[in-house]
Amino acid sequence: MKVIVVGSSHGGYEAVREVLANDPTAEIQWYEKGDFLSFLSCGMQLYLEGVVKDVNSVRYATPEKMRAQGVAVYTREEITAIDPQAHTVHVQNHNNGTERDEKYDKLILSAGAVPAEIPVPGKDLANIYAMRGRDWAIKLKAKTVDPTVKNVVVIGSGYIGVEAAEVFAKAGKHVTIIDLLPRLLSLYLDAEFTDILTKEMATHNIYPAAGQAVQRFAGENGQVTQVITDQATYPADLVIEAAGIKPNTAWLKDTLELDEKGLIKIDQYLRTSQPDIFAVGDATLVRFAPTDGSARIALATNARRQGRYAAKNLVDAKYPVPAVSGSSALSVFDYKFASTGIKEGTAHNYGLETKSVFVTDTYRPPFVPETAGNTEVLFKLTYAPENGRVLGAQIMSKADVTANINAISLAIQGKMTINDLAYADFFFQPGFDRPWNIINVAAQKAQRQK
Ligand code: FAD
Repeated sequence: MKVIVVGSSHGGYEAVREVLANDPTAEIQWYEKGDFLSFLSCGMQLYLEGVVKDVNSVRYATPEKMRAQGVAVYTREEITAIDPQAHTVHVQNHNNGTERDEKYDKLILSAGAVPAEIPVPGKDLANIYAMRGRDWAIKLKAKTVDPTVKNVVVIGSGYIGVEAAEVFAKAGKHVTIIDLLPRLLSLYLDAEFTDILTKEMATHNIYPAAGQAVQRFAGENGQVTQVITDQATYPADLVIEAAGIKPNTAWLKDTLELDEKGLIKIDQYLRTSQPDIFAVGDATLVRFAPTDGSARIALATNARRQGRYAAKNLVDAKYPVPAVSGSSALSVFDYKFASTGIKEGTAHNYGLETKSVFVTDTYRPPFVPETAGNTEVLFKLTYAPENGRVLGAQIMSKADVTANINAISLAIQGKMTINDLAYADFFFQPGFDRPWNIINVAAQKAQRQK
């Protein structure tokens, strides 16, 4: 069997690994149009802050190691077209300018997404950057140490925008973070959390400009100098656009069924509308456990899971990919937070009625002093009012309590209710937590208000 995998980031990498594991005799060709195999954008912040020194280490796979396992690796070779009837892909080799067709038995696409450009006047000025992939990582790194860059404007306050803002604030720049929505990070957290984080950012030289629409970029000598919104004008030596992504699928529109956003339509086995072609990652929707429907959740975890499942289903489609809750975590200076599933602030996007409980507690028993690391924990649990089904949760603290969210993710996947969580068996040891885990505390409170 000859398998072609397109794209070398999270989804492509896992697909290749699973094909190798399931069928060591398979012939695998792995294509990446960029010049670097398997760069992982999730490591960008650590590189930009100097924790990781070498940009080329931010990856799992190297061509040499993959070739040693028998995988034919092609970088700077782009798949530009697919002929599903002939079972061929068209390859443009950017190394030498040649073109060719390659046959496949099975094709797995993990072509991912690219940062969405804000389509306003001035968008072509210099020093308007994005934060995705190795090339932008290298360019952004140079700007962190450029003394002429004093004012940085980040557009978009999702986790990528917030990572970018923190990088440049730590580099000593004055950072403004603009978002169309009325609160920063509002797709990840409700106001009880974002109010604190917004203040925390302001104390670190990150100034929020929420609820504002960018109208144009102004510049001098071809370089951006200002970002103008419907409410204010912000000085900018560097702009970082982190206001969403768009699927890398324009080249597929006449070949595969795409939705109105350009996402590739797939079934639960990761099969596209054409036989023997599978698609995974940021160019697809994922199965979303809280609604038993689907959602657009661009995360490496999802791309990786889908990559594995596409490979499992290549020959015989019998393994539905598990539905996910959309769990993610981030730190903002000293605060660490994680969230999963549906929040009060996002419930309307799914047409859902929800109820929530918000609790604060200490990380460890009250007799443990702050000097020993005891600190406040904030937790919010969201559930369905009609049957108590757990739909989502958010947690935040200066201690790292984020792993609790993985338990909630499982509860959502397992369709558990607040009654299941109220007295669930979670460990206690004063070095780690309190006699009642904060999940128990919140679920018990939810039982009382049910
Ligand atoms: P992509 O990562 O978009 O990669 C697609 C690859 O395919 C690219 O290398 C592209 O060059 C190549 N390609 C595209 N078309 C072709 C073609 N026609 N021929 C050949 N090659 C092609 N997720 C998390 O879960 N946790 C995190 O902490 C996290 N942090 C992030 C931080 C940042 C700054 C960013 C930008 C993203 C982060 N993500 C994180 C999201 C995560 O990186 C993405 O969800 C993931 O990379 C998606 O993988 P993918 O395989 O779908 O595609």
